[in-house]
Amino acid sequence: MAKHGIKAVFSDRLGGVSGCEFSSLNLGVDLGDDEDYVQQNLNILCQSAGLAIPHQCLQIHGSAVLWCSGGGILHQEEADILITKERQSSLAVRTADCLPILLADKQVGIVAAVHAGWRGTVAKVAQEAINVMCDKGTKAENILASLGPCIGSCCFEVSQKVGDSLSVSCGENIVQHRGDKVFADLVRANFLQLLGVGLSLEHIECTNVCTFCNTSPEYFSYRRDCGKTGRQLAVINLP
Ligand SMILES: [Zn+2]
Repeated sequence: MAKHGIKAVFSDRLGGVSGCEFSSLNLGVDLGDDEDYVQQNLNILCQSAGLAIPHQCLQIHGSAVLWCSGGGILHQEEADILITKERQSSLAVRTADCLPILLADKQVGIVAAVHAGWRGTVAKVAQEAINVMCDKGTKAENILASLGPCIGSCCFEVSQKVGDSLSVSCGENIVQHRGDKVFADLVRANFLQLLGVGLSLEHIECTNVCTFCNTSPEYFSYRRDCGKTGRQLAVINLP
């Protein structure tokens, strides 16, 4: 994204002011962390990355869209795709194992932030985001995509039922069997979805970092920390 002039950042858990399980750059509200700390962390991230305070919404593992304009706020609407055509509006999704996807078409001037866990992946939330962008004048082959840190296929053990849902929706090579265990590859599933709707291979970048097992830097991981953890932020802003 950066080489194309798009401002985009994926945070990790370092450099903030929160303590205990939220140590230290927790960007998730309503998790039990002090709200002042979360706000301070947001300011730290946005100032260091040169980004406006982002729009955020209530994420529900679906594929609904929220159009954003003006200065960023925490909306009470439920959505997993945020989109804007405004330079003053930055967009963010919160994750702690789910896959954040940032999308941009600089020519048309439109960006999106997408929250894709396994349910969103089954619901093809990434493709829905591309469809909405194309409805607004974008061509898929001009869209840049950046897939951020998420739980990797190294660590994302799923039930047979979840594995079956992903296989039906995204293809059998999304799921790997190791012994009697089933593991899913969220990055690959969403990468293939984006290729499937016409994005160019060279326009898709993958961080390929596992939030569960990566140690440098460390990330919040809902699965590893048994739900008692903070949230990363993926933020995008038109130049
Ligand atoms: Zn891992």
